[in-house]
Amino acid sequence: MLKNKSMKGFKNMTTSISMPRNSSYTKVLSGNKPLEGFLLKAVDFYGKELMTTRMFNTLKIKVHVRKTVLKRGVSGAVINNCKGSIKQNEYLITLDYNESCNDILKTLAHEMVHVMQIATKKLQYRYWKSDKKLHFRWNGEEMGELSKFPYRNQPHEIEAKERQDKLFMKFYYYFIMNKKSEQYKLRNKYR
Ligand SMILES: [Zn+2]
Repeated sequence: MLKNKSMKGFKNMTTSISMPRNSSYTKVLSGNKPLEGFLLKAVDFYGKELMTTRMFNTLKIKVHVRKTVLKRGVSGAVINNCKGSIKQNEYLITLDYNESCNDILKTLAHEMVHVMQIATKKLQYRYWKSDKKLHFRWNGEEMGELSKFPYRNQPHEIEAKERQDKLFMKFYYYFIMNKKSEQYKLRNKYR
């Protein structure tokens, strides 16, 4: 397990990464560096691209990379407390170890968009007392029962899909390819 909470000026930020136990080998990226370290950097990078540093620093994010926990066809998940407008500060993101390093980092970008949506309350889930069903709100608007909303039409999924590739590409150039000139190009392009 890797922790990142002692960086100067980031006292409140706690991110931890946990990889599967009994892995026969370690997943590595460019320069033989373990995926674990890149995941830690990616949480920080995505978080600060998506939210203010101030907000990001109030969050505790745990990332579990696992071989078998997720359902078939699901590459990532983030736990939501489903308590409506009550602020959620702790998040558990689960990622699929069987995917390639790049896909794991891209799925992490997707899940971090959901973390931002929940932390900023753009997305709120709530179990209604009247029908005991899970309802959701998007941008303050009541959207109804989540299960009645086709997955591909869910606004939070549309946003996460729209933003995941750009976030991942930026991370890729900054931290994996280490291309300084590309950093500037990308920065100008997306700001
Ligand atoms: Zn999603």
